[in-house]
Amino acid sequence: MSYLSHPERATGRELQSLDLFTHESMHVRGELNEALTECEAVQRNYRAARLLGVPDKAARENALRYYNINYQQRGKIGGMQAAYYSDQCAPGKAMDEHLSDSTWATP
Ligand SMILES: [Zn+2]
Repeated sequence: MSYLSHPERATGRELQSLDLFTHESMHVRGELNEALTECEAVQRNYRAARLLGVPDKAARENALRYYNINYQQRGKIGGMQAAYYSDQCAPGKAMDEHLSDSTWATP
């Protein structure tokens, strides 16, 4: 709710909370593998924010920020965080679902 109240200045924690919402939604769909689930989530964080009413520009910028910063840190931290990361989760790589409204799609 704090993210939705000021999406233009979302904190890292608020971006994490949006991703948690998207990530768990992917589990509800039936995905069990954590790396695939998280990659499905990062590609849909833009869509999820729009569905929750976040303005388009902020939704896209924040979704990209989560992918470029929060997500990439996972791969560097390693350990348990590494289970949620794959270098194949990137535009044009194996986990790219080529969604028309992907976080990665050019507006
Ligand atoms: Zn999970």
